Amino acid sequence: MAEAVRVAAALHATNRERGFPLPQPGGCRCGRVRYRVTEAPVFTLACHCTDCQHLSASAFSLGMVVPRGGHVITDGRDALRCWSKTGGSGKESRQFTCAACATWLYTEADSAAAFTIVRPGSLDDHRWFRPIAQIFTRSALPWALKQLQFSYETEFDDPGPIRQAFASSGIRPGA
Ligand SMILES: [Zn+2]
Ligand SMILES: [Zn+2]
Repeated sequence: MAEAVRVAAALHATNRERGFPLPQPGGCRCGRVRYRVTEAPVFTLACHCTDCQHLSASAFSLGMVVPRGGHVITDGRDALRCWSKTGGSGKESRQFTCAACATWLYTEADSAAAFTIVRPGSLDDHRWFRPIAQIFTRSALPWALKQLQFSYETEFDDPGPIRQAFASSGIRPGA
């Protein structure tokens, strides 16, 4: 009996760790574009690259990496504006904003074609958000550098360990 209770408690803990409340709704500042995240993110990050500094007009961007089909525009698709740029690697990345209010909503990058990078500041609830990894620290503003388990001067080679750590991190809405 005690064993059964222990196993049940362990299972509950596992579900709480893995469970990510879905869907997570979000949208732009003016409300014309609305979306839903319908699949759990694989990890979260901060990017200190100079493109992200320009795009955010700030020190770094935040990103929530979601399987490409798990980010669905539910309203205002016609108000979306796409800005594309080919990076030094020769791969294109596309930044999507609201044409009316300029909120930066998400990114699609050919270097990560299976994923959409949602900008978590646009989630209706983003108080739970924190990055588990940071990239392009070489161009970070010194005060903006974080003490994170996963930290890279440029990009990472293998997202495997980051994904694994995120799955049990407890970085979740409502956590
Ligand atoms: Zn808008
Ligand atoms: Zn960046």
